[in-house]
Amino acid sequence: MKKAIGIDLGGTSIKGGLIDEGGNILKKAEKDTLTANGRYEVLERISEVINMLMEDGVMGIAIGSPGFIDSNEGKVLKVGGNIHDWAGTKIKDELQKKHPNMSIFVENDANVAAICEHWKGAAKGYENFIMLTLGSGLGGAIYIENHGLVRGHRYRGGELGHAIYIPGGKLCTCGQRGCAEQYISGNAVENAYEEKTGIKKKGRDIFKSISKDDIANEVIHSFSQNLGIYITTLKNMFDPECIVIGGGVINSKEYWWDDTIKSFKNHSNDSEDIDIVPAKYLNDAGMIGAGKIVFDRLR
Ligand SMILES: [Zn+2]
Repeated sequence: MKKAIGIDLGGTSIKGGLIDEGGNILKKAEKDTLTANGRYEVLERISEVINMLMEDGVMGIAIGSPGFIDSNEGKVLKVGGNIHDWAGTKIKDELQKKHPNMSIFVENDANVAAICEHWKGAAKGYENFIMLTLGSGLGGAIYIENHGLVRGHRYRGGELGHAIYIPGGKLCTCGQRGCAEQYISGNAVENAYEEKTGIKKKGRDIFKSISKDDIANEVIHSFSQNLGIYITTLKNMFDPECIVIGGGVINSKEYWWDDTIKSFKNHSNDSEDIDIVPAKYLNDAGMIGAGKIVFDRLR
């Protein structure tokens, strides 16, 4: 049986899966990312997760990473996402030293999630779709049939979280001001709540408390409004058949989904003929999509 190791690198944890050609997860492994200690510690921990999953029949390894990713050279470009010291990391070259006999691939994490959803999940059967990943940040992927993922001229395409949403607004991790990610993401919700109350609370707890906490309610309503407006913009820019929304924040969708769709319908010039759906593979999308990359590229 052919197998692949798919790694989902996030700001808090490194999740790995041993994946078969049907997209089934045969085995899982996980470690904390510990980003504070810099890139070499993170690379070492990725390698440890790989070793925990390695066995006979593994054809290759793929890593879904935050940041702007040159998927040809397998390295992080100028923006490293939510991982400290990650910009500029040559992921493929560094991991190749630790796993010399393996084929190694690297791709942007939102692109990996889109690959999974198109293969087996909510985007299956769609010829063109947009994927948004709402985690601590806002990731994006654009998929067009017969072309595949839109990577752009220098691998900076599809970074939908860095479209400027409020000119001159909050400073983003990418260096710009007013990026969509600063208003539509898990961190955005946490920051907005902290600004209004002085209290640092986890996103999922803020979502849970909307019925009894007026400030939480206000913050979440503003988040849903913004997301609905942003989906309107995406529809007009790309006219996709479908928009899939995934990422950790989708686990709290009961608190914001309906409000978001209402906002989209209120703001859009034409809200028909587009499917807006939650992702199917939430926590596992990264490892399954990464596994698919290995099978596709080694075919
Ligand atoms: Zn940005």
